[in-house]
Amino acid sequence: MIRSGEPSFRESVDLMFNRAVRHMDLSPGLEQKIRVCNSTYTVRFGVRLRGKIETFTGYRSVHSEHMEPVKGGIRFALNVSQDEVEALAALMTYKCALVETPFGGSKGGLCIDPRQYDERELELITRRFAYELIKRDLINPAQNVPAPDMGTSEREMAWIADQYARMNTTDINAKACVTGKPLNAGGIQGRVEATGRGIQYALREFFRHPEDVAKAKLSGSLDGKRVIVQGLGNVGYHAAKFLSEEDGAKITAIIERDGALTGEALDVEDVRQWIIKTGSVRDYPGATFVEDGAKLLEAECDILIPAAMEGAIHRGNAERIQAPLLIEAANGPVTFGADEILRKKGTVIIPDMYANAGGVTVSYFEWVKNLSHIRFGRMQRRAEEARHELLVNELERLSEDKGLGWTLSPNFKKKYLHGAGELDLVRSGLDDTMRTAYQAMREVWHGRDDVEDLRMAAYIVSISRVAATYQSKGL
Ligand code: GLU
Repeated sequence: MIRSGEPSFRESVDLMFNRAVRHMDLSPGLEQKIRVCNSTYTVRFGVRLRGKIETFTGYRSVHSEHMEPVKGGIRFALNVSQDEVEALAALMTYKCALVETPFGGSKGGLCIDPRQYDERELELITRRFAYELIKRDLINPAQNVPAPDMGTSEREMAWIADQYARMNTTDINAKACVTGKPLNAGGIQGRVEATGRGIQYALREFFRHPEDVAKAKLSGSLDGKRVIVQGLGNVGYHAAKFLSEEDGAKITAIIERDGALTGEALDVEDVRQWIIKTGSVRDYPGATFVEDGAKLLEAECDILIPAAMEGAIHRGNAERIQAPLLIEAANGPVTFGADEILRKKGTVIIPDMYANAGGVTVSYFEWVKNLSHIRFGRMQRRAEEARHELLVNELERLSEDKGLGWTLSPNFKKKYLHGAGELDLVRSGLDDTMRTAYQAMREVWHGRDDVEDLRMAAYIVSISRVAATYQSKGL
């Protein structure tokens, strides 16, 4: 939700784009070509529900087709608008370029409160929306590939994939028309948690650079860092869970739509189970409840993770944000105005187009898996294990023959003998992607005197890649 006096979400993205291109050497024509959204399709369709026809409004926006297919999620939320999907589609263009997934940018949305419908009704609505987009090639494995976003999940993606397959019965690549599908419908392991996992890998990479950590007035590693997370949806939940369970971070506050919880170190899994059971964070026994949840965005902590809506940090509260490091798990959680205020305060922001790119990265792996019609690791896994076993056996034989008394630790043997399966490969590919993209941003951040923040660096890296693609096409 964007407040009055602030630019709209799309304007905010454009202003951030403009701020970066001022430091680049692009022709005004090319600059304009990259900035604008190519097209937005609006559809209104009726579905007969509970004895009467209900009309729904949906969008699919294509920001840039410098590479195809174009990629980006489909969001189900009441406040979906053309402005919002266009902003999100633009962010997809820059995100894909930054993490080198070979896609243009797109986004879709349906104005609906999914909680008001049962599963069967949602299936009817989703299939009908998909039908409208499929018949216009706005869902197509070669042209436009949606994925989950706010309010949608594996379930909706399975319906969309099935709808596409029914309408394209001879398309052997039909499954690649959408990503984020359940495993049994052509999905890939590790996709559900990919965006949260990406946040973890991004922070790990950030903390590998003491110079960068010092810019955020922090030191050391993630261990013991106090983290506040806003939104315990798919992204916020996984990010907070992994950071607390695997990196020693302490979740000191969880902000949800109906209030927030604070404590020394909240048990993320337990809170999530409570929300699933009761529908709210209220009355959770293991923490203090705070009615005005948004106030906690301003609480003292080391790392703030906005993982809910765009515009959560705006001109009205930016000055009071105390976190020295902010990682944007949501798309556009910091408005252009707030970004300016935070920059002046010296807050380090790890920007959305990098921070939450784990989702589209693993979507890319899923799309490749669908096109190659084989699970990652299926051919190599046992061959790899057999080769490692040869070496282990040979080492043990040598030790025995020569009386060296060497023993390989059981933990080493177990790890070394394990051949990489699909999940291992997905994690390795995601980790590599997050590290490589951070380093590309960092090079610009540290290497140029006129670039003061990571967001500008991210825009410069991605815009120059999009520009290079256009230029090689002769534009
Ligand atoms: N909706 C996610 C995003 O905003 C994922 C997009 C995708 O996987 O295509 O990045």
